[in-house]
Amino acid sequence: MAGLLRAVVPAESDTPLTRLSGGPGGPGALTPMLRTVLGALAEGAERRGGPLPAGSPAQLAADVARVFAEADGDGALHKLTDVLAYGSADPADPSCAAHLHCPPLAVAVAADLAVSALNPSQDSWDQAPAATALETLLLQELAQLVGYDPNEAAGVLTSGGTESNLMGLMLARDRVIGQDSGRQIELSGLPGTGRRARIFTSEAAHFSVQRSAALLGLGEDAVVPVPVDDQLRMRPDALATALRDCVRRGELPLAVVATAGTTDTGAIDPLRTCASLSAEYGAWLHVDAAYGGGALLSEQLAPLMAGVALADSVSLDWHKLGWQPVAAGIFLVKRAETYASLARRAVYLNPQDDEEAGYPSLLGLSLRTTRRTDAFKIAVTLRTLGRDGLGRLVDACHALARSGTEAVRAHPNLELHADPVLTAFLFRYLPESPRNIDPERVDRINAGLRRRLLREGRAVVGRTELPGEGPGRVRLKLTLLNPHATPAEVERLLDAVVAAGRAEEEL
Ligand SMILES: *Cc1c(COP(=O)(O)O)cnc(C)c1O
Repeated sequence: MAGLLRAVVPAESDTPLTRLSGGPGGPGALTPMLRTVLGALAEGAERRGGPLPAGSPAQLAADVARVFAEADGDGALHKLTDVLAYGSADPADPSCAAHLHCPPLAVAVAADLAVSALNPSQDSWDQAPAATALETLLLQELAQLVGYDPNEAAGVLTSGGTESNLMGLMLARDRVIGQDSGRQIELSGLPGTGRRARIFTSEAAHFSVQRSAALLGLGEDAVVPVPVDDQLRMRPDALATALRDCVRRGELPLAVVATAGTTDTGAIDPLRTCASLSAEYGAWLHVDAAYGGGALLSEQLAPLMAGVALADSVSLDWHKLGWQPVAAGIFLVKRAETYASLARRAVYLNPQDDEEAGYPSLLGLSLRTTRRTDAFKIAVTLRTLGRDGLGRLVDACHALARSGTEAVRAHPNLELHADPVLTAFLFRYLPESPRNIDPERVDRINAGLRRRLLREGRAVVGRTELPGEGPGRVRLKLTLLNPHATPAEVERLLDAVVAAGRAEEEL
């Protein structure tokens, strides 16, 4: 409480600390503050000196708590930005390569600053006149990128794949269960009796599919995990069997969720087979292309996505393979009429007479009300670099992943799981000493070496487990999203992994 009170600024409205970011004076008010922010970003990063701050989580939390307690008045912006930069895991560092956590392009961040300054909100035209038009135009281009007819498709910017997957499954639920039961599900809820609905997705799919099923009142158990092959792609024979069994049990195949680019390995499910099986069983096809959607930008990798246009709905995430600051999720449906159950009329946001008078509203396209103009940075990036320019960044990351897997293969202490499909691969450290080769010990050494690299501030490497049971499944992961990183930098990162593995073996 004391901290809060201390931070309160004087009441006069002309103090520089209460100036606004918009209006004619906005840019002038921002200029010195931006100088402060940019300076503190540079100082914090310099002090960090690596991909993340060295030390334990408790040490960092203590630093943050101290600065948060001390910072006040016009020093707060500098002090807190400095500790944020110091205490960040910076994906622009070639050794920060664990997650689908991309280094944003400077041009996208600059564009996003304009959005923050103007603060448009996409829930009504009178809060976002130009931004409403721009989001609509951007979505038409993205629909074309997926292969949809832009005149028939519809979509919206989302917080990410999680929200997009929820939306796809919500529209699927309302349509498929609605047709099966003759009820309007969004009004009357799920029928108490009738066929149990099932969602089919691979064992390697994102957990948001289960989460969505729970939120939609279907229950996580409605999700049937379909087995994968050794590349972690959904097995088409297994999907066919699962659908057949579902119908034989008298249940309703609601949706197939195909993953185009699994989070861990970038595996792409057989999209065409998923589409033909979905059509055969009357199920909705949602393609989760949160990661693999980036492949659509690359001439070389786009063929991997063949069949995506057959989906009823698609999730894309430009805060993964798209180099945007969070959030840059995109949800698209192939046919706008399937969006009907989400339509909303709020008398104070999109009254019918306004719409009839030519004031468009995006309200009925989103689960949210107030919504940031995340379309703007994407639109600027797309026009700045073009699809080709972005495609070259995707290709650079793919090439980096290929050179990384070559380096893993060449190293006697590293074992590759599989070649990269997109820009990520799994591998593990193989112990030097014969006393360390039992699978549980190998798992512990790999998990331990990753934490050692974090503690030393040396690298942010991913850690996951292969599907299945029992020990020996822990794997390390590199997700390469920095198009300017070099093969030599990835090799140095792998050397650091090996050195940390040796140190763990000594314990
Ligand atoms: C990242 C990811 C998601 C979740 O997306 P968010 O943007 O984090 O909400 C969903 N599916 C896949 C395959 C992903 O990789």
